[in-house]
Formats: sequence, structure tokens, C-alpha cells
Amino acid sequence: MDERFTVEVISQSLNPQQIIYAAMHQDYAEELVWDQRDQWPDEQNSGELVVKNLLQGNRGHYGPFEHPQIVLNFGYFPHSTMQQMRTHRNVSFDVQSFRYTGQRILEVAEGKQDLEDVFYLRPVGSYSDRQGKKYDYTAEQRQQDLDWCQQACQRYAERVGQGLAEEHARGLIPFDVRQHWVMSANARSLMHLLDIRGKFDVQIETRIMTELMFTQFQQWMPEVASWYEKTRWRKGPLAP
Ligand SMILES: Cc1cc2nc3c(=O)[nH]c(=O)nc-3n(C[C@H](O)[C@H](O)[C@H](O)COP(=O)(O)OP(=O)(O)OC[C@H]3O[C@@H](n4cnc5c(N)ncnc54)[C@H](O)[C@@H]3O)c2cc1C
Repeated sequence: MDERFTVEVISQSLNPQQIIYAAMHQDYAEELVWDQRDQWPDEQNSGELVVKNLLQGNRGHYGPFEHPQIVLNFGYFPHSTMQQMRTHRNVSFDVQSFRYTGQRILEVAEGKQDLEDVFYLRPVGSYSDRQGKKYDYTAEQRQQDLDWCQQACQRYAERVGQGLAEEHARGLIPFDVRQHWVMSANARSLMHLLDIRGKFDVQIETRIMTELMFTQFQQWMPEVASWYEKTRWRKGPLAP
């Protein structure tokens, strides 16, 4: 894995499984569930109860999972992975635009920042294309591609120096420039993303990204994530 890839938690609802339990319980409780808050099961028991009553046996009662929220910070992923994530409309984003964030391109051009902090190129190795045809990405090719990125940074700096706006000059930046973004999701939409973007045949970098997301999900909602891992993770179920 590229050591720079990261998915960090900025914020997350506390006791998320208890929140789901309270929402579920309100569906069939006569009383205001708030008044019974001292009797709510603890986080672990809540997790087990919501799995049993809402998810197990393909029940599909996902509504209560829309209440707990998580805000994640994705760092150093190639632009292509960000593009894939941004196709999803049930989550919210803030993404570096390169209208305001071209400084690191200039710093690479000036030799002040490591090229590989700013651009992602796959490691040297054996790969296959979407049709299964195998090929090698050699050290020589990779060095040539690093040189290409370096030259692009220099051209970018030259054009900005000539007065071009960042929104104009950014078209010169190679496609797999690293990008950071913030994404917020609820537990339901997070599982939807993991379903669709965590399939085995996704692009390697997307696969690593979903593994890092899944690790955060496990820490946040252990009982629900355990059910998810057994029933849906990497199995590629698709929403209608
Ligand atoms: C392997 C793969 C390859 C892809 N290739 C391309 C590509 O080449 N080009 C490209 O543009 N996109 C591509 N996509 C993106 C894909 O077409 C979807 O736009 C993206 O995956 C969003 O997921 P979603 O449809 O589940 O909706 P989300 O936006 O994640 O919404 C979640 C769910 O909400 C519901 N929903 C949301 N919006 C609507 C709506 N308007 N109407 C009805 N229901 C709605 C649906 O049930 C949906 O599943 C690809 C996706 C995958 C997984």
C-alpha cells in the first residue's frame, strides 16, 4: 500500500449503535424513548439488537442507520479515486479544487517538495488490465513517468508565472495528482459506498481506500460492521 494514503476520522456520532437502537425503539414504543434513556442497552448490546431486528435475514430495515454520522478526511489519494467517490449523491464533500491549491505544484517545480508527495504513480510491478491481460510496469517506465510529472509542474509554474489563472493552468497537471477531501456520511450511506466501491474488481487504489474506510467503520460500529463483513463486504451486492 502507498504509505501516504490515509482515511482519518474528523468527527463521528458517539454511541452510534445506541442511536440506531433508540430510533428503532421509537418505531414501536408508546412512550417517548428519551424518557427511557437510562434503560437503553449499552453500545454493544444495542449493536447486537439492531443487527438482529433490522438487518439479519436480509430484513433490510436501513432507515434507522441514517441517524449516526461520520466525517472522514481522505488524504493523498490519486484524483481518479476522488472522481469515483464523487459520483455518490447520498454523501457530502469538500474537495481541493486546484483553483486555490496549486502551491504544491509550484513547490515541486522549485524542488521544495517531494514529487511523490504530490503525485501518485503505481509501484513497479506486475499488473493486469480490465480484460485480464498481464503487463509489467518497470522501474525505467516509472522513472520516465516521474520525469513527466516533474516537467508538467515546471510548465505549470511557467504559465502561472506568465499570469495564467490557477483554474486555467490546472489543466496541465497530470491526472493522478494526489488530492485531499472531506466526506460526511451516515451509517447507511457509508455501507452503500462500501458495497459499491469495495468490490474485488475495483481499481487497486480504490480497494485500499475502502479497506481504510472499513477499518474506521469497524472501530465506530463494531457489531454492525461485523454483520456487514459477514454478509456484504466484498460480495458486491448492488443497490437498485
Ligand atoms: C464499477 C463502476 C464503474 C463505473 N463507471 C462509471 C463511468 O464510467 N462513468 C460514470 O459517469 N459513472 C460511473 N460509475 C458511477 C455509477 O454510474 C454511479 O453513478 C455511482 O456508482 C453512484 O452510485 P449509485 O447509483 O448507487 O448512487 P448514489 O449516488 O450512491 O446514491 C445511493 C442510492 O440512492 C438512490 N438514488 C440516488 N440518486 C437517485 C436518483 N436520482 N434517482 C433514483 N435513485 C437515486 C439509489 O438507490 C442509489 O443506489 C461507475 C460505478 C462503478 C461501481
